[in-house]
Amino acid sequence: MTESVTKTNLLGLSPAKLEAFFAELGEKRFRATQVMKWIHQLGAESFDEMTNISKALRQKLSEVAEIRPPEVVTQDISRDGTRKWVVRVDGGSCVETVLIPDGDRKTLCISSQVGCSLDCSFCSTGKQGFNRNLTAAEVIGQVYIAIKSYGPMDPNAERRVTNVVLMGMGEPLMNFDNVVDATELMLDDNAYGLSKRRVTLSTSGVVPALDRLREVSDVSLAISLHAPNDELRNELVPINKRYPISMLIESCNRYLDGLNDKRVVTVEYTLIAGVNDQPHHARELIKVLRKLPCKLNLIPFNPFPNSGYERPSEEAIQAFKQIMLNANFITTVRRTRGDEIDAACGQLVGQVMDRTRRSKKFIPVVQEEAGLETDRRV
Ligand code: SAH
Ligand code: SF4
Repeated sequence: MTESVTKTNLLGLSPAKLEAFFAELGEKRFRATQVMKWIHQLGAESFDEMTNISKALRQKLSEVAEIRPPEVVTQDISRDGTRKWVVRVDGGSCVETVLIPDGDRKTLCISSQVGCSLDCSFCSTGKQGFNRNLTAAEVIGQVYIAIKSYGPMDPNAERRVTNVVLMGMGEPLMNFDNVVDATELMLDDNAYGLSKRRVTLSTSGVVPALDRLREVSDVSLAISLHAPNDELRNELVPINKRYPISMLIESCNRYLDGLNDKRVVTVEYTLIAGVNDQPHHARELIKVLRKLPCKLNLIPFNPFPNSGYERPSEEAIQAFKQIMLNANFITTVRRTRGDEIDAACGQLVGQVMDRTRRSKKFIPVVQEEAGLETDRRV
């Protein structure tokens, strides 16, 4: 009987971990670089393709390792060029990835968890409960799949993905290690080689994790603020009860201080009719944002069944925007894209088997907000 060996999925190994993997096999460092290029720049799926590696080593690799992206369940392209993939991750749950072309910019919105435990009141991912963290291979696998879907990969060709935003399903900072490993691959020149300005992590404000992130990464940051005071934010973003607005703003400032360039934080503010979209909310928001170098991205609420919330009128959105512009904040309104494939501002479809006590049943496909960075000045 043959012994079954759990193979290491090289797709998800950060550059340092891939080097350690080869060191353990008694191989030279540069093998890690070669294999990283094969996988992430040329889209190799098997070791046989790696022609600059000896047959003996390829054989050894195929015995102990594999290159296994998540399985693509569906792929859709909408009239405006938005592409959407539903991918099945181990265990049968599905998460979604969306690519939005906008001029020269091609922004890929990826998921970090199956569901989310943070339960923001206006978010359908939160309403689905939490199942598990994605592995690093499943996080970076979404980038790999998106780029490969255009055909053979060619490192010299025009970039098929220019920006990555961690704004799909899940709270990236609650899946810290795997997300950091995946972002390292996004930034590494031997893998995807994206600039740190073009990889954005969006968080609802897990402050201790954000402070840790500063120690290990310099990706760009977006925060989900959604309210100008703690009372309202406690209601919308419950993690605010543990890490209130002032703590979050201080942590963001520490993050910016640790960068060696002049970047700002993107503040996301979902506008919900009658809840946080009034002129007095905007005026209160001005006072909060004066304490943080930032730009503001207003997201009209994306409705889903039984949410209990509504999208504000266009007048209310414009009025809010104008107050912020008058106070000299760079302010954009996120517009929905890919309507006919339900990729409009995300509307992520996910199937999540909730493992928390909130729900014990399998929750069917629901719309979710991806928070796609398709900022359009309107
Ligand atoms: N968990 C992370 C990233 C995923 S959500 C975070 O919360 O930041 C990406 C963005 O979409 C967040 O700003 C989130 O608050 C927002 N969002 C969630 N549901 C929404 C909805 N129904 N309508 C509009 N924005 C929504
Ligand atoms: Fe989780 Fe973000 Fe949704 Fe809140 S908004 S429930 S943190 S995915």
